Amino acid sequence: MSSNAATPDEGPVAGGGAGGRLDDLQRLWTPWRMAYVADPDRESTGCPFCELPGWGPDRDADALILHRGERVFTILNAFPYNPGHLMIVPYRHVPDLADLDEGELAELGRETQRAVGALRAASGPHGFNLGMNLGGIAGAGIAEHVHQHVVPRWGGDTNFMPVIGQTKVLPQMLEETYERLAPQF
Ligand SMILES: [Zn+2]
Repeated sequence: MSSNAATPDEGPVAGGGAGGRLDDLQRLWTPWRMAYVADPDRESTGCPFCELPGWGPDRDADALILHRGERVFTILNAFPYNPGHLMIVPYRHVPDLADLDEGELAELGRETQRAVGALRAASGPHGFNLGMNLGGIAGAGIAEHVHQHVVPRWGGDTNFMPVIGQTKVLPQMLEETYERLAPQF
């Protein structure tokens, strides 16, 4: 359990109730996720947000990293609520918003703005949910490494709250989403 896909964020782990059945369905519907499960060249650190940037820029497509800033990076969520669900993540392994310094906070804001613009250009969502789940009790799947969610919304998609804790059937696969979004960054 060492990669983007293997550590779902607010995904099936948080879902709990559906248990093994949900897991089976994920494997059935999303076999392409297996491509992200393990990097054989590296020891797992246990934190995908520390590990994935370490794969290096030439493997950003495998890691689903859309953009590397100086202090933060932008990455697609491997267990998205909607196509284009991405996260802005500081490189530093810290759990709380209060742990970020001025430079990280400023860049997090700028990169969130960039992500919203990129999603608008790529897929014209009708709205967005932006936010952080601080702490496991709040639903953070990777509570030890703070991250900002950007979730594009369309009229008629599932309401945000019921989606948390489940994995939806997605109309676009992750690779396709990545290829569509990457040029916008
Ligand atoms: Zn980390």
